[in-house]
Amino acid sequence: MDDILITDALIVTCDGNHSIIENGVMAVNNGKITALERFNTSAAKKLTAKKIIGANGNIVMPGLINMHCHAADSLFRGLVENLPLEEWLGRVWIAEKAILTPETTYLGSVLGLAENLLGGSTTVMDMFWYPDETVKAAKDLGMRISTGGIFFDLPGIGGRSHENYVSEAHNFFKSHSSDDSVIPAILPHGSYTVSPQNLSEAKSIADEYGILFCTHAAETQAEQNDINKRYDNSVIRHLDKCKLLGKTSVLAHCVHLDETEISLLAQSETNVVLNPMSNLKLGSGIAPVKEMHRAGINLTLGTDGAISGNDLDMWLAMRLTCGLAKGLNMEADALTAEQVLHMATISGAKALGKSDSLGSLEIGKNADFILLDINNFHSVPLFDPITHLVFGAGRSDVTDVFVSGKHVVENKKISGLDVEKIHAEVRQLAPSIKASLE
Ligand SMILES: [Zn+2]
Repeated sequence: MDDILITDALIVTCDGNHSIIENGVMAVNNGKITALERFNTSAAKKLTAKKIIGANGNIVMPGLINMHCHAADSLFRGLVENLPLEEWLGRVWIAEKAILTPETTYLGSVLGLAENLLGGSTTVMDMFWYPDETVKAAKDLGMRISTGGIFFDLPGIGGRSHENYVSEAHNFFKSHSSDDSVIPAILPHGSYTVSPQNLSEAKSIADEYGILFCTHAAETQAEQNDINKRYDNSVIRHLDKCKLLGKTSVLAHCVHLDETEISLLAQSETNVVLNPMSNLKLGSGIAPVKEMHRAGINLTLGTDGAISGNDLDMWLAMRLTCGLAKGLNMEADALTAEQVLHMATISGAKALGKSDSLGSLEIGKNADFILLDINNFHSVPLFDPITHLVFGAGRSDVTDVFVSGKHVVENKKISGLDVEKIHAEVRQLAPSIKASLE
């Protein structure tokens, strides 16, 4: 007997064929998907489970994978506005330095990751100052997290030096490498805040453990000018010269690229995370998504932190990515809804090196899935579920979330989370956050 059986579901699998199972059933045992069938098959009729959940015709699909976030930055949402990235970062770092401790980082991480989880993201790749606290928050919420040691050359939070970051990166890997819910990574901030030597050292730690290397890259024109001035090269060429591109590299943004750089990313099989809302709001630009997609780059989606994009909404990221590619190129088929849905699911899993266990609903994979309500005015009639997911649905439609078969969000409520307490703690901290910039 299986643990869970979901019945009467419109299953959007996000597999290689974009398969959709109408009137479907899905069985879960020991955290894995064990069956996916149409309800009226003889195999489906034999299925039984300890817990049977009727989906009432609603959509069941894989949990979204947010590939770029700074969850704890939710503490600073709306604090610094209307400035370009470089001046904006200068202000953000003042506030972060005044406020962030391991304790406040945990609080901010719960805030940001809870928003992610309620919106249907079951896995988040997060870059932040105290990654152990991010992991603690993710585990308390029951979600999957990819994070790890950060690198930053300027005096950072907690007065830590490069040597501290090196030992923290090693320690992070050692403490979390055997945990199935943690995907360890090494996350230097960027090539304008970390020297080539320190970036190379970060990459050698990633390679030593066979884990991901993730950094911000080619986000703004000012960053290009800065790197050009310092190293007489563009950002992607600079990263290539430092031997930082490749299958296990994840570059956030990639807004400012020329044809050669797109080829470099494609040939090296480097993964790219698009963060359209953050790029628009900071006036950074619009990434050449159509060109990158046609070059065969593995494109994934992220929200960035709530301090730049102001929310952690992967549905908005999907809609913007698809709409901007069509509008910018004046081509209605520049990018399809299927392609964008894959960016938010299976392509994220591929970038994390987990396409065998995450990112789609297929037998043998982890049971990380969400339920979406389609019994509402914006979903009736529903001719094409995938177009609906990208252009019509939103995070408020997500009712239930499962991670490894565990029911972590039930009817829009996170199991075991004291929401009032979290809100009260954040509100108590708010005056000092505001005062940090006065
Ligand atoms: Zn970022």
